[in-house]
Amino acid sequence: AKAKGRNGYAVFKSDMEAVIMRRQTLESDLHRAIYNHEFFLLYQPQIDANTGKLLCVEALIRWNHPVEGIISPLEFIPIAEDNGTIVQIGNWVLEKACQQIKLWIKEYGYSPAVSVNLSAIQLSQGDLVSTISSLLEQEKIPAELLELEVTETLILHEEKRSIDLLKSLKKLGIRISIDDFGTGYSSLNHLKKLPLDKLKIDRTFVSDIPGDPDSETIIKTIIKMSKELGLEVTAEGVETQEQLEFLKGERCPQFQGYYFDRPISPMVIQDKYFK
Ligand code: C2E
Ligand code: CA
Ligand code: CA
Ligand code: CA
Repeated sequence: AKAKGRNGYAVFKSDMEAVIMRRQTLESDLHRAIYNHEFFLLYQPQIDANTGKLLCVEALIRWNHPVEGIISPLEFIPIAEDNGTIVQIGNWVLEKACQQIKLWIKEYGYSPAVSVNLSAIQLSQGDLVSTISSLLEQEKIPAELLELEVTETLILHEEKRSIDLLKSLKKLGIRISIDDFGTGYSSLNHLKKLPLDKLKIDRTFVSDIPGDPDSETIIKTIIKMSKELGLEVTAEGVETQEQLEFLKGERCPQFQGYYFDRPISPMVIQDKYFK
């Protein structure tokens, strides 16, 4: 039993070492990744419940690491937040998304709105208002085609400052949505103070329906509330026909999830939705 235990410990220790080493490698490689053009964006459609048409696409970053291959944002975004490279990476995502809008307008005379995820660090450290206003000017795209996704916790953290910042961003004409809605601690009173366009129902609730009474209630409530507040609402993480039927039954107006599309390249978006 002892030998086994020691074995187990040895395996555990080398696993830990591997995890730590990988993290250190990624941490230092992040500094060069933008310069080396190692990031790319995929886009996941948001679909109108009534018409089946494309409303918006969410930009989702991937890292094509020269040795490690494709790395998920779930792994490298937290590292980039720790070492500060998230500000540069976030600016790159914003620029790339605006360029994509411009390209689609140029080639198709049309672009869906593109939503971009914001990290808390970008709100607190970056000069987002001037970054975004110069981007809109540089790419000459309509501001309402750019949407920013922020989380509830991100706003609650520095409430006054965040609300002012979101208001200044909103004045530029861009759209603002709350991501992963329902998982944070927003009160209605709090929501009312924010210049919002859309709530995105977190996929942990969607994955539990139909069947889980609590998630069903939360989803119904968010849909009803958003309508009363005059906000759009998107259900995230729709994977099955059953989930879709439930959401349609509750008059959920917009869907996003693997049932419709995974995150896909701009070319696939064009082929599927622009023709
Ligand atoms: P998120 O903003 O909540 O994005 C939705 C995530 O759910 C995406 O994962 C998407 O691929 C996945 N997803 C969409 N539909 C389904 C579904 O039906 N089932 C399941 N199981 N998953 C689904 P992804 O692309 O791996 O991104 C993970 C997270 O990384 C994002 O969560 C977001 O928080 C962060 N992230 C991604 N891109 C960026 C970025 O450019 N900047 C920042 N700051 N964060 C980003
Ligand atoms: Ca998001
Ligand atoms: Ca989300
Ligand atoms: Ca999330």
